[in-house]
Amino acid sequence: MIRILVTGGAGFIGSHLCERLLASGDEVICLDNLFTGQKHNIEHLLREPRFEFVRHDLVEPILLEVDQIYNLACPASPVHYQFNPVKTVKTNVMGTINMLGLAKRVRARILQASTSEVYGNPAVHPQPESYWGNVNPIGVRSCYDEGKRLAETLMMDYHRQNRVDIRIVRIFNTYGPRMSVGDGRVVSNFIVQALRGQPITLFGDGSQTRSFCFIADMLDGLIRMMNNGDDFIGPVNLGNPEEFTIRELADAVLRLTGSSSPVEHRPLPPDDPERRRPDITLARNRLGWEPRTPLAEGLVPTVEYFRRVLADPAGGAA
Ligand code: NAD
Ligand code: UDP
Repeated sequence: MIRILVTGGAGFIGSHLCERLLASGDEVICLDNLFTGQKHNIEHLLREPRFEFVRHDLVEPILLEVDQIYNLACPASPVHYQFNPVKTVKTNVMGTINMLGLAKRVRARILQASTSEVYGNPAVHPQPESYWGNVNPIGVRSCYDEGKRLAETLMMDYHRQNRVDIRIVRIFNTYGPRMSVGDGRVVSNFIVQALRGQPITLFGDGSQTRSFCFIADMLDGLIRMMNNGDDFIGPVNLGNPEEFTIRELADAVLRLTGSSSPVEHRPLPPDDPERRRPDITLARNRLGWEPRTPLAEGLVPTVEYFRRVLADPAGGAA
């Protein structure tokens, strides 16, 4: 049994990860400041003696005796990371320094949740890890994009300078049950709007693309990368290479929910990437990992989850 710290553990990916790690018999410390995460995401884990919740802001240092750190703390939805952009930078930079300092001190392995946003509005398609990206350093998304890029820099420098044992994953758009109703990202927005009979807010003409990975597949990839015995530190792309236009996503959600919500066009937010699709050759070759859940399949439990939450807001967590 090892002790594992999950920062951002009360969020969407983090809470599923805590649950999965507990199920495999390990001890889990979930650290979160509850900015976008919610207590009810982990409420069902609190009665488990191998689980602890620490309410803490990653921007402040903390000392914990752990063997592994999954560093997930950071708001991931554009709406939330742009709400307080300076704080987003602090979380990515000071928070990552704090976690790397901790990893160095207690000799833990640390995995950084990086993002496809490090590729910005990509000029290479699909995106391999060798592509350095096309990021606007002064735009409204920069607090997140550049924050995550600097977090990768810090990971590599602590590795080279202090021999910290690191892993870097670049996560592409991930969805599933337990995203919050007000998260603001496209999958949850469209499903909630469709179920409420409200207009589907399609930004731009809907021809921009994304590739959506179901949460269960993402968890497998994260855990494989953390535990790979080789010296494979990444960065490695984790995502589903099936690519859809956002218009196609809207149609799929409308079909699945049977909703008659109208589609309403809204202006495209600044610097919104035109296309995104991971090249996952490296993950296939080095981790033996690839996603198994097509979008049409993963949307089913996701829609069911939101149906439950909208019918009874307290009933969604587990
Ligand atoms: P989320 O917003 O649901 O979870 C983030 C969690 O971090 C929340 O619980 C939030 O309260 C916590 N947090 C934020 N700032 C903090 C701070 N200063 N101190 C402590 N806790 C803090 O988002 P998610 O989708 O679960 O994303 C988790 C991680 O994965 C993030 O780092 C995100 O950048 C990365 N990621 C996610 C996606 C995706 O599609 N879901 C894609 C790329 C990268
Ligand atoms: N989007 C949309 N309507 C919404 C929310 C998002 O059309 O209500 C679009 C957004 O402009 C982007 C894509 O969906 O092109 C994915 O947006 P999201 O915020 O989920 O994540 P991103 O990949 O942009 O970080």
